[in-house]
Order: sequence, then structure tokens, then C-alpha cells
Amino acid sequence: MEVREIEAKENFDISGMTTFKVGGLVKKVYFPANQQEFVVLLKNIKNPLILGACSNIIFSSQGYDGEVISTVKMDSIEVRGTHIIAACGVKGPMASQTAYNSSLSGFEFMIGFPGTIGGNVYMNAGAHGQNISDTCVEVCLYDTKSKEVIYIGKDKLAFGYRHSLLQDGRYILLSAEFELKKASQSEIKALMDRNLEFRKNIQPSLATPNAGSVFKNPENDSAGRLLDKAGVKELCADNVKVWEKHANFIVNTGNATSENVLELIYKMYSTVKDMYTIELEPEIKFFGKKSKREEEICKQIYKKTQK
Ligand SMILES: Cc1cc2nc3c(=O)[nH]c(=O)nc-3n(C[C@H](O)[C@H](O)[C@H](O)COP(=O)(O)OP(=O)(O)OC[C@H]3O[C@@H](n4cnc5c(N)ncnc54)[C@H](O)[C@@H]3O)c2cc1C
Repeated sequence: MEVREIEAKENFDISGMTTFKVGGLVKKVYFPANQQEFVVLLKNIKNPLILGACSNIIFSSQGYDGEVISTVKMDSIEVRGTHIIAACGVKGPMASQTAYNSSLSGFEFMIGFPGTIGGNVYMNAGAHGQNISDTCVEVCLYDTKSKEVIYIGKDKLAFGYRHSLLQDGRYILLSAEFELKKASQSEIKALMDRNLEFRKNIQPSLATPNAGSVFKNPENDSAGRLLDKAGVKELCADNVKVWEKHANFIVNTGNATSENVLELIYKMYSTVKDMYTIELEPEIKFFGKKSKREEEICKQIYKKTQK
């Protein structure tokens, strides 16, 4: 198979693919339909940007001159006994529903947010006391160094709070295998409903564009608690504001640009820093070309994650 046979779009406005509804034009976006196509792209394209559901990112309004691979069409999922094998593009709610249909418990936390299995393993996503690392047993990766497909066990994935080996950049997740526990559908459903209800009361739904928690929790504390105490719920910038029910969420209220979003994040970061001398670390990642102002802000707020 050749790269040109794989679905792609040129000069593609990526904003509609992001949950923030913020972004610009990308030179080329590929949409592989399966692992074989994904691997062909990975072997032939130099340093592509890999994106899942774009639910944890700010994409630059100035766009991006490089090539992006979107995994969202790679949505095959298989149940084998108590194991679930999911391609990287399977979205959390679909994985959660599949587990429920097979009376398997362990994915209830994924019902409430849109991340893909690839993004969720990359971030070690978690909520309501469950993390994706709890059930993950093995992953199938593309090694960008050796250009080979490899399998590795959970013990080598360096899972931590919102961290996994994937963040080093060498490996791309192709699929993952999970081991869940048998449970009754009524118990699983009750947990899923509880999780959804909890979110409905404090978090914005996707109808109000957002990208989940803005900052990671600092050790032994909660970013939401610090932000709330610092009074950031009053803050806003052009076309963006802090969500009134949760100080660690910001929402796009109109046609926000990436610079509008970063300005607000910077105000939140600075408010907490001035009040508590704590420098919060963003959970949301920034991709694409930066304006001069974006460059300045990113230098400050991403300094802990810059290599
Ligand atoms: C309303 C809402 C609620 C949320 N609630 C939660 C929550 O409770 N808990 C939580 O943890 N998160 C939450 N999030 C954040 C987000 O959904 C997660 O961080 C999720 O894991 C991101 O997955 P994604 O597919 O959207 O990744 P993207 O945003 O597309 O990408 C995130 C990162 O993962 C990398 N990546 C994606 N796929 C792959 C792959 N196949 N291989 C290697 N790298 C890859 C990307 O390069 C990027 O660096 C929420 C988001 C929203 C919008």
C-alpha cells in the first residue's frame, strides 16, 4: 500500500475536529482506517503530529505547516472473555459501552469524556477513582526509532499521574489490550450513570466547547480548589471565560482564537502563582504555529514540560 491511497485532506481547517473549536489550517491531515494504513503513514511521513479526539489540546489559530495523522477512523474493538482489545482511535464512551454490553467492569470512568484509547493511554487518563493504567495489560506500539511494530507490557509503560512512556515521543500507540472484571450490568450501569450525573453538575458538556481540565493537580492538592480560592471564576478574555461551576475549566464562548485561550490560561496561572507561589502545570497541550504573544505565554506556562 502507498501513502497516496490513504484518505487525506489538504489545507484542512482543524478547528471543527477539536472539542475547543479552536484551530487553523493544516497543510495535510491523514485519516487511516486501520492499523495497516497507520503504519504505512508512520513509516513514510517524517515527524507527523498524531491526534485522537483532540479533546486535550489547543490547536493554533495560525495553523500548522506540517502533516497530521488523525486516528479517529481506527475504531475497531474486540472482546475476548474478560479482555478488550481496542484500536487507538476508539473513543472512551464506545469502549465503556462495549464493556457494559459484555458485563465487564473497569471502563465506567470513560463514559463521560471523549478521548480516544491512544490519547487516554498517552495521558493515563482517569476519573472517579479509575485510571486507564488500572486495566491496561499490553500495548501494541510503533517504534519511531527502529520503525517496527512492537508489543510491550504495562510494567514498561511508566504510568504515573497523567503520565505514560508515550510522552517521551518515541512510541505511537496502535492498539491496547485491557483486562476487566466480570460484574453485573446493573452495577456497571449504576456506576456509569453516577459518573455522568457527577459531570453534568459541575463540568461543561461538549455543547459548550472546552478541553477538559486546564491544569494538572499539583502534588497532594487540587488545581480546581486552588484556582477557586484564588478567585479565577471571575476571569475571562476575549471569547473565553472560566466555567462558573468549575474553576479548572475554560469555555469558548464565541469564536475564540488560540491566543484568546492562552491569555486566559496565563491569567489563571499568574493569579495562583501570585497568591500561593505555586506554578500550575497545564494538562492541555498546545500544537501548531505560535504568534509572538503565544510564544511568550507558552515559555512561561509550559516551562516544566519543555525539554
Ligand atoms: C469535557 C471533557 C472532560 C474531560 N474529562 C477528563 C477526565 O475526567 N479525565 C481525564 O484524564 N481527561 C479528561 N479530559 C481530557 C481528555 O479527554 C483526555 O486527556 C484524553 O485522554 C485525550 O484523548 P484524545 O484522544 O482527545 O487526545 P488528543 O487531545 O487528540 O491528544 C492528546 C495527546 O495524546 C497524543 N496521542 C493521541 N493519540 C495517540 C496515539 N495513538 N499514540 C501516541 N500519542 C497519541 C497526542 O499527540 C497528544 O499529545 C476531558 C476532556 C473534555 C473535553
